[in-house]
Parts: sequence; C-alpha cells; structure tokens
Amino acid sequence: MRFSVLASGSSGNAVFIENDEHTFLVDAGFSAKKMDSLVEGIGRSMKQVDGIFVTHEHSDHIKGIGVVARKYGIPIYANEKTWQAMDGLVGNIPLDQRFQFDMETVKSFGSLDVQSFAVSHDAADPMFYVFHENGRKLAVITDTGYVSDRMKGFIRGADAFVFESNHDVSMLQVGRYPWSVKRRILSDVGHVSNEDAAVAISEVVEQKETKIYLSHLSKDNNMKDLARMSVTQTLETCGIITGEFVHLHDTDADQPTELVTV
Ligand SMILES: [Zn+2]
Ligand SMILES: [Zn+2]
Repeated sequence: MRFSVLASGSSGNAVFIENDEHTFLVDAGFSAKKMDSLVEGIGRSMKQVDGIFVTHEHSDHIKGIGVVARKYGIPIYANEKTWQAMDGLVGNIPLDQRFQFDMETVKSFGSLDVQSFAVSHDAADPMFYVFHENGRKLAVITDTGYVSDRMKGFIRGADAFVFESNHDVSMLQVGRYPWSVKRRILSDVGHVSNEDAAVAISEVVEQKETKIYLSHLSKDNNMKDLARMSVTQTLETCGIITGEFVHLHDTDADQPTELVTV
C-alpha cells in the first residue's frame, strides 16, 4: 500500500491511498481543480479514484466532494449522520454513488481492509480510518479534541500515521482568535496540540520503523518547524528518540508529500 498526504491544514485536507488494485482518498477538502492538480502532483489522476472516505462535514474536508463525485463518478462513503449533515453542502450526489460506511465497521476491497473509528470533534458523527493490508497498517487521525484510549486501540502499531498536530498552545493563547474560537480549538471536541499529539503518539507506536506525518497544522497557530520541534521534544520526555525508529515527516497545506510505501 502507498499513500501521500495530498495537502493538509486549516483550509483543506485530502489523503491519497493506493495498492495494486485500488485507489482511494480520505476526504476531498479542496476545489475539484485543486484536487486534480494535487493528485497530478504525485503522478496520478482523479480518474483512477475508486472511492472517497469522508471523515466529517467540515468544509476543509468536503469542499470538492460534490464536484469530483459528479465529474468522475466516484463512489462516496460516509456514515448516516455525516450524509445528513453534508446534504445541502455538496449538491446532488447520484444515489448509486452514495454509500454508507457505519461507525466502527470494516469494509474490504480485495486485500485492503478499511476500518472506521470515532473521534471527538464538533461535527455530526466524525470518524477516521485505518487501512490494513498484508499485515501493514496506515492510520489517519486528524480533527479530534483528544486521543482517547479507544481511539488508541484502533491506531496502535500502525506503520504510518497521518496524525493531527494542530496548534502550539501558547501561540493559540496569545494569538488573534476570539476567545470563543480559542476555547473551541482547545476543547475536547476541537483539535490536538503539538504536545498532546506527541504524548498520544508515544502511546501508540511500537518498536519498529514508523512514519509519522504531522498534519492539519493551523495556519495561524503553528509552524512546521515548531510542530516538529515540540513533537520531538515531547516524544523525548516520553522516552522516544526520533530518528531511531520513529520518523517525523512534514505535510504541507498546498503540496503533496511524496508517494511512499507503507
Ligand atoms: Zn473538522
Ligand atoms: Zn479539519
């Protein structure tokens, strides 16, 4: 299985996953035109996409869903409450492209198993996904206020993580956001900070080569270098030296990461 974080941040998110038989996306939070160029950026085409797994109805995750579904006939998967919440936001999606993916269930596509799991976020029924193939595992988890033991159970031992590292708490606190927005981000249904991400990562990685893609960085309350440094330092206090078996990777708000094999 191979994947690329096509782009990730406050203004849009999409992850590309493929194996020898299938091509999928988690979310399509950009315009159809931008989705085309991101996928072309890794040498692939939106025409190849066999399905999009939706995490929740926030616009940074579904902006392009309606248009790409209609343009390319791509099947869309979401749980029932997310479908209800998306109605009116994504335009008409033909019935034969609407698929239900229930919370905490597994769908199999040949040798690839896709597991959904619940997160804690202020959306209708937000969920993220773990991809399993031939004993290899990719976990995608952004948009959660905290990482519960239950979530850790789903993602533990992945070979690669697309992991939220949303904000630096002090940047957020002194920044220009209104207090209500700050309180939302810091709440249990907001986003995880660099430090909280690192603590959770330390509890789910196993002693093997593991790639961590720091994702969904806030444009205003984080920076790549800061996220990397905070996560590195916090992991160290948890007894994990990055570069030994845990490798941190940046993601970009506008550019795809290199397509890598899990
Ligand atoms: Zn969200
Ligand atoms: Zn988001």
